[in-house]
Amino acid sequence: MRTTIKELLGSYKKNLHHDITVQGWVRAFRSNRFIALNDGSTINNLQIVVDFENFGEDLIKNISTASSLKIVGEVVESQGSGQNIEIIAKKIQILGDNFTEERDKTILQPKKHSLEILREQAHLRFRTNLFGAIFRVRSAISFAIHQFFHHNQFAYMNTPIITGADAEGAGEMFGITAFDLNEIPRDENGDIDFEQDFFGKKTNLTVSGQLNVEAAMMGLGRVYTFGPTFRAENSNTTRHLAEFWMVEPEVAFNNLEDNIDLAEDFLKYVIGYVLENCKDDLVFLDQRFADEQKQKPEKDRASEGLIEKLENVIKKRFKRVSYTEAIDILKNSKENRKGKFQFPIEEWGADLQSEHERYLVEKHFESPVVLFDYPKEIKAFYMKLNDDGKTVAAMDVLFPGIGEIIGGSQREEKLAVLKEKMKAMNVDEHELWWYLDTRKFGSVPHSGFGLGLERLVLFVTGMTNIRDVIPFPRTPKNAEF
Ligand code: ATP
Ligand code: MN
Repeated sequence: MRTTIKELLGSYKKNLHHDITVQGWVRAFRSNRFIALNDGSTINNLQIVVDFENFGEDLIKNISTASSLKIVGEVVESQGSGQNIEIIAKKIQILGDNFTEERDKTILQPKKHSLEILREQAHLRFRTNLFGAIFRVRSAISFAIHQFFHHNQFAYMNTPIITGADAEGAGEMFGITAFDLNEIPRDENGDIDFEQDFFGKKTNLTVSGQLNVEAAMMGLGRVYTFGPTFRAENSNTTRHLAEFWMVEPEVAFNNLEDNIDLAEDFLKYVIGYVLENCKDDLVFLDQRFADEQKQKPEKDRASEGLIEKLENVIKKRFKRVSYTEAIDILKNSKENRKGKFQFPIEEWGADLQSEHERYLVEKHFESPVVLFDYPKEIKAFYMKLNDDGKTVAAMDVLFPGIGEIIGGSQREEKLAVLKEKMKAMNVDEHELWWYLDTRKFGSVPHSGFGLGLERLVLFVTGMTNIRDVIPFPRTPKNAEF
C-alpha cells in the first residue's frame, strides 16, 4: 500500500515493523546511506536507510538530489535524532531521469538561492521547502475561506471572468477579442467595430465579481464569489498582481457595521485555521522570518515573530476609525509635519496612500485598523451615500506590513440615488441596465467586501513580495510559464 509521508509520520506507531511503499523526491543523499525523501505532503522529510550491499552500485550512483524514487521498506524506530522513524529500504526504484548537469544550473542544485532567482524558475520552486510551505498554507487558506462561508450559510457563486462591463471602477481592464488582430474590422468612423466581434460587443476580463454577486445576493441572501480577477495596473509594486484571486461576499440586510464585523470574523477565522492546521509549515516560515529580520538594521526589524503576530491578530479587536479621524491623525503626525510622507496630507478629501495606511497601522495604532466613511469622490459609484451627503459607507481593513487587505462598503440600494451617483461619476447607465434592475424589484440594504487572497497569504506567511505567494505570477512584462 502506498502512503504519503505526512500520513506515515502522523501515525507511525501503527506502521512499526510493517512494510510500506512511499514515493517522492530526494532532498539529500548522505554517505551513500541516508536518503531524505520528500513527497510534498508535509515539510518534513522521511529518512530512508540504504544498506548499499543490498543494492547494485549502478543504482546507488544514480540517486542524487532531486531524483524521484519509489521505495518499499520496513518502518523501524530511528536510531538517529531528529525523527521518530526511518525506513529500511528493501526495494528502490528510480522513477524518472535526473539530468544532474542541467540540474546544477537550476535552483534544484543543493544550496541556498535568492527569492529573485527562485522566481525566475517558478516551475521548479515548488520543490523547495519554502515554496512547499507557502503553497500548502495558501491551499489551507482557500479551504478555510470556503469553510467559513459554508458554516455561515453562504452560497458559493461563480461570477463570469469575461465581462461586458467596461468600467466597474475597480481598475484598468484587459480587453479580450476573437478578432484577427491583423484584420480588425472598423466602422465608417474608423473605430473598431465590436459588433462583428465574438460577443457582438466590447468585452473585458473581470476586475471584480461584485456587480454580478450583488444580483445573486438579491435572491440567495448570503453569497460569495472566489475567483481570478485581472487588472492592467501598470504599477510594479510588491502588493499588486495583474492576475489575482479575490474573495467577495455580499450579504442582504447587512449594514456597514455588520459588514465590518463579518470582515473581522472572517479574517480571524481563516488565520486561526492556519495556526491550528499548518503548524509545521508555520514553524518553518516563522524561522525564515526571524532569520530575515536579523539581516535588517535594528530599527527596521519587526517587533513580533510571525506566529506571535498571527496569534495577536486573532486576539485583539481591530481598531475602527473614521476616515475623518484618520486624516486628523495623519495631518498632525510628526511624519507629515516634517515632510516625511511622499504624499503630504493637506486636507480632508485626500486619497490615502499605502504610506499613510501603514503609518496608522504600524506606528499610530499598532493594530489592524478598519477605516470607514470615506469621501464619496474617492470611492466607487455603488457605495451608499451617508446622510451627510459628503461621505459613503465604505470600509477598508488595513493590516501591518500590507496596508489594504480588504475593501468593502454598504451598497447604495436606492435606485434614484444610485442613478445620480452614476451620472456624477460618468458611469454608463445603459451598459449597467441589468444592475439597475436589481434596485427595482424589492431592493434591500446590503453590504459586501473584496479580499485579495494573495495579500492575506503574504500576511500569514511573512513573505514580502506578492510574486512569491502565487504559483505563477503575472505582472507587467512578465507572463512566463
Ligand atoms: P489598492 O489600493 O491596494 O490598489 P484597491 O483599492 O484597488 O487596492 P479594491 O478594488 O478595493 O482594491 O480590491 C479589493 C481587494 O483586492 C484589495 O483590498 C486588495 O486586497 C486586493 N487587490 C486589489 N488590487 C490588487 C492587485 N493588483 N493585486 C493583488 N491584490 C489586489
Ligand atoms: Mn488598486
